[in-house]
Amino acid sequence: MPQRIQVNVTEIESILNQILNTKSPPVGRCRLLSSGFGPAHALNICEDITGHKECLGCGNCVDACPFLFREPYRRDKTEQRTSMALESTVGEDCDQCCACVLSCPQVDTTIKHYIVNHRLVEIMSRLAQRIGDEDDMDLDLFVEEAISG
Ligand code: SF4
Ligand code: SF4
Repeated sequence: MPQRIQVNVTEIESILNQILNTKSPPVGRCRLLSSGFGPAHALNICEDITGHKECLGCGNCVDACPFLFREPYRRDKTEQRTSMALESTVGEDCDQCCACVLSCPQVDTTIKHYIVNHRLVEIMSRLAQRIGDEDDMDLDLFVEEAISG
Protein backbone atom coordinates (compact mmCIF):
# COMPACT_ATOMS: atom_id res chain seq x y z
CA MET A 1 0.00 0.00 0.00
CA PRO A 2 2.54 2.50 -1.16
CA GLN A 3 2.41 6.25 -0.77
CA ARG A 4 1.12 8.63 -3.42
CA ILE A 5 4.65 9.89 -4.07
CA GLN A 6 6.64 6.77 -4.78
CA VAL A 7 10.28 5.96 -5.36
CA ASN A 8 11.84 7.57 -8.43
CA VAL A 9 13.26 4.57 -10.27
CA THR A 10 15.92 6.63 -12.05
CA GLU A 11 17.48 7.20 -8.61
CA ILE A 12 17.62 3.49 -7.76
CA GLU A 13 17.91 1.95 -11.25
CA SER A 14 21.39 0.56 -10.72
CA ILE A 15 20.62 -1.26 -7.45
CA LEU A 16 17.21 -2.34 -8.77
CA ASN A 17 18.85 -3.97 -11.79
CA GLN A 18 21.39 -5.68 -9.54
CA ILE A 19 18.49 -7.12 -7.55
CA LEU A 20 16.59 -8.20 -10.67
CA ASN A 21 19.75 -9.76 -12.15
CA THR A 22 20.32 -11.90 -9.05
CA LYS A 23 18.97 -15.45 -9.03
CA SER A 24 17.02 -15.07 -5.82
CA PRO A 25 13.44 -13.94 -5.03
CA PRO A 26 13.50 -10.16 -5.55
CA VAL A 27 10.26 -9.15 -3.84
CA GLY A 28 11.61 -8.46 -0.34
CA ARG A 29 14.35 -6.13 -1.57
CA CYS A 30 11.99 -4.37 -4.00
CA ARG A 31 9.65 -3.83 -1.06
CA LEU A 32 12.45 -2.21 0.93
CA LEU A 33 13.22 0.13 -1.98
CA SER A 34 9.57 1.22 -2.04
CA SER A 35 7.84 4.07 -0.20
CA GLY A 36 6.06 1.98 2.44
CA PHE A 37 2.57 2.34 3.87
CA GLY A 38 0.63 5.36 2.70
CA PRO A 39 -1.14 7.48 5.32
CA ALA A 40 -4.61 6.54 4.00
CA HIS A 41 -4.50 2.88 5.03
CA ALA A 42 -7.71 1.60 6.61
CA LEU A 43 -6.17 -0.46 9.41
CA ASN A 44 -7.80 0.12 12.77
CA ILE A 45 -4.67 0.93 14.76
CA CYS A 46 -3.43 4.00 16.66
CA GLU A 47 0.23 3.78 15.68
CA ASP A 48 1.34 5.88 12.70
CA ILE A 49 2.75 3.30 10.32
CA THR A 50 3.22 5.67 7.39
CA GLY A 51 6.37 4.69 5.54
CA HIS A 52 6.71 1.27 7.15
CA LYS A 53 7.92 -1.28 4.60
CA GLU A 54 7.32 -4.56 6.39
CA CYS A 55 6.03 -7.68 4.67
CA LEU A 56 2.29 -7.98 5.33
CA GLY A 57 2.36 -11.76 5.18
CA CYS A 58 -0.41 -11.66 2.58
CA GLY A 59 1.11 -14.55 0.64
CA ASN A 60 0.50 -12.96 -2.78
CA CYS A 61 4.12 -13.50 -3.77
CA VAL A 62 4.03 -17.15 -2.68
CA ASP A 63 0.82 -17.75 -4.64
CA ALA A 64 2.15 -15.99 -7.75
CA CYS A 65 5.47 -17.83 -7.88
CA PRO A 66 5.54 -20.20 -10.90
CA PHE A 67 8.42 -22.16 -9.41
CA LEU A 68 6.38 -23.04 -6.30
CA PHE A 69 3.44 -23.85 -8.59
CA ARG A 70 5.62 -26.41 -10.36
CA GLU A 71 7.12 -27.75 -7.12
CA PRO A 72 4.29 -27.28 -4.56
CA TYR A 73 5.85 -29.69 -2.04
CA ARG A 74 8.39 -26.98 -1.25
CA ARG A 75 5.58 -25.01 0.41
CA ASP A 76 5.42 -27.74 3.06
CA LYS A 77 8.68 -26.43 4.55
CA THR A 78 6.85 -23.62 6.32
CA GLU A 79 3.36 -22.37 7.17
CA GLN A 80 4.52 -18.80 6.66
CA ARG A 81 3.41 -16.88 3.58
CA THR A 82 5.97 -14.11 3.56
CA SER A 83 8.85 -12.92 1.41
CA MET A 84 11.16 -14.69 3.87
CA ALA A 85 9.29 -17.94 3.23
CA LEU A 86 9.68 -17.38 -0.51
CA GLU A 87 13.41 -16.89 -0.08
CA SER A 88 13.79 -20.06 1.97
CA THR A 89 11.62 -22.26 -0.28
CA VAL A 90 12.77 -20.96 -3.69
CA GLY A 91 16.23 -19.50 -3.07
CA GLU A 92 18.64 -19.80 -6.00
CA ASP A 93 16.12 -21.82 -8.04
CA CYS A 94 14.27 -18.55 -8.72
CA ASP A 95 13.15 -18.18 -12.37
CA GLN A 96 13.71 -14.39 -12.12
CA CYS A 97 10.24 -13.87 -13.60
CA CYS A 98 9.30 -10.98 -11.23
CA ALA A 99 5.75 -12.30 -10.68
CA CYS A 100 6.31 -11.94 -6.92
CA VAL A 101 7.28 -8.27 -7.26
CA LEU A 102 4.31 -7.48 -9.50
CA SER A 103 1.91 -9.12 -7.03
CA CYS A 104 3.19 -7.43 -3.86
CA PRO A 105 0.99 -4.68 -2.37
CA GLN A 106 4.02 -3.18 -0.62
CA VAL A 107 6.07 -2.60 -3.79
CA ASP A 108 5.77 0.82 -5.43
CA THR A 109 3.91 1.01 -8.74
CA THR A 110 6.88 2.93 -10.14
CA ILE A 111 9.04 -0.19 -9.67
CA LYS A 112 6.35 -2.42 -11.19
CA HIS A 113 6.06 -0.12 -14.22
CA TYR A 114 9.83 -0.21 -14.65
CA ILE A 115 9.81 -4.01 -14.68
CA VAL A 116 6.92 -4.18 -17.18
CA ASN A 117 8.44 -1.55 -19.46
CA HIS A 118 12.13 -2.47 -19.26
CA ARG A 119 12.47 -6.10 -18.18
CA LEU A 120 9.42 -8.09 -19.27
CA VAL A 121 10.50 -8.73 -22.87
CA GLU A 122 13.83 -10.10 -21.64
CA ILE A 123 12.09 -12.22 -18.99
CA MET A 124 9.61 -13.71 -21.50
CA SER A 125 12.35 -14.38 -24.01
CA ARG A 126 14.54 -16.09 -21.37
CA LEU A 127 11.67 -18.30 -20.22
CA ALA A 128 10.69 -19.07 -23.84
CA GLN A 129 14.24 -20.23 -24.59
CA ARG A 130 13.95 -22.77 -21.79
CA ILE A 131 10.90 -24.42 -23.37
CA GLY A 132 12.18 -27.51 -25.09
CA ASP A 133 15.34 -27.59 -22.99
CA GLU A 134 15.95 -31.24 -22.07
CA ASP A 135 17.35 -30.17 -18.72
CA ASP A 136 14.17 -28.29 -17.90
CA MET A 137 11.38 -30.82 -18.30
CA ASP A 138 9.38 -29.23 -15.49
CA LEU A 139 8.95 -26.01 -17.47
CA ASP A 140 7.74 -27.98 -20.52
CA LEU A 141 5.18 -29.77 -18.37
CA PHE A 142 4.11 -26.48 -16.80
CA VAL A 143 3.55 -24.91 -20.22
CA GLU A 144 1.66 -27.99 -21.50
CA GLU A 145 -0.60 -27.94 -18.43
CA ALA A 146 -1.22 -24.21 -18.80
CA ILE A 147 -2.15 -24.61 -22.50
CA SER A 148 -4.37 -27.65 -21.96
CA GLY A 149 -6.03 -26.15 -18.87
S1 SF4 B 1 7.81 -15.34 -8.56
FE1 SF4 B 1 9.45 -15.53 -10.07
S2 SF4 B 1 10.99 -14.03 -9.39
FE2 SF4 B 1 9.61 -14.37 -7.66
S3 SF4 B 1 10.59 -16.00 -6.47
FE3 SF4 B 1 9.14 -16.99 -7.85
S4 SF4 B 1 10.37 -17.53 -9.64
FE4 SF4 B 1 11.54 -16.00 -8.47
S1 SF4 C 1 3.35 -10.08 -1.52
FE1 SF4 C 1 2.63 -9.99 0.60
S2 SF4 C 1 3.76 -11.68 1.58
FE2 SF4 C 1 4.85 -11.23 -0.31
S3 SF4 C 1 6.43 -9.71 0.24
FE3 SF4 C 1 4.64 -8.57 -0.43
S4 SF4 C 1 3.52 -8.13 1.48
FE4 SF4 C 1 4.95 -9.80 1.94
